[in-house]
Amino acid sequence: MRAPELLLLWDIDGTLLTSHGAGTRAMEMAFAECFGVADAFAGVNMAGCTDPWIFRQAWERHAAGTAFAEGLARFDAAYRRLLPGVLEAGRVSLKPGLPAALDTLAARGDVAHGLLTGNFEHGAWAKVRAAGIERFFETGAFGSDDEDRNRLVPHALRRFAERDRHFTPACTVVIGDTPRDIACARAHGARAVAVATGGHRLEDLRPHGPDVACGSLADPAPLLRFLDGMTRA
Ligand SMILES: [Mg+2]
Repeated sequence: MRAPELLLLWDIDGTLLTSHGAGTRAMEMAFAECFGVADAFAGVNMAGCTDPWIFRQAWERHAAGTAFAEGLARFDAAYRRLLPGVLEAGRVSLKPGLPAALDTLAARGDVAHGLLTGNFEHGAWAKVRAAGIERFFETGAFGSDDEDRNRLVPHALRRFAERDRHFTPACTVVIGDTPRDIACARAHGARAVAVATGGHRLEDLRPHGPDVACGSLADPAPLLRFLDGMTRA
């Protein structure tokens, strides 16, 4: 098998899977436990945002008198404890075309897979584990690395480099379902693939200038053609 030439960094929620609100429910439970406030995330648009940023929105509204870093650590610990049970009690569904597209990509032999997600690292692994696709991903970058998603690509490249897998931004592809996924790729010169399987339609994603926009990965041909073009370049 050839050494991987391309690094694909996958967003989780809306791209690989949906937890049907389980992540939000576990966050609500964790915030209520830590700060005594129910429905603390009501009205917060979480799509494409990092967990620390999402926590900050509720903290500013309901707990701003407390220390942010200490509150975040308490919230993270409660969420880490609660999320697996909430995921287990609910249903995690893979998005259309998965895991077949991951199998197809793995068979190419020239692609390494990582995660690039706003989830805390423990939450990211809990979700992909619940969906049965943990085996595809080696490492990644997570909301726990930085509150700003636009700073996450270097964390993923560093973690792969620590495994002696060296990728440049130019051979890195971020796959996600929101304009924020496209922006975080562009912030570091990575390529961007948009999939309209989350809350954004194709016509909402295209103006943000992804290299490829797909309705879903049920037909992975546009993604595969794009990767072929990258390896020929
Ligand atoms: Mg997403």
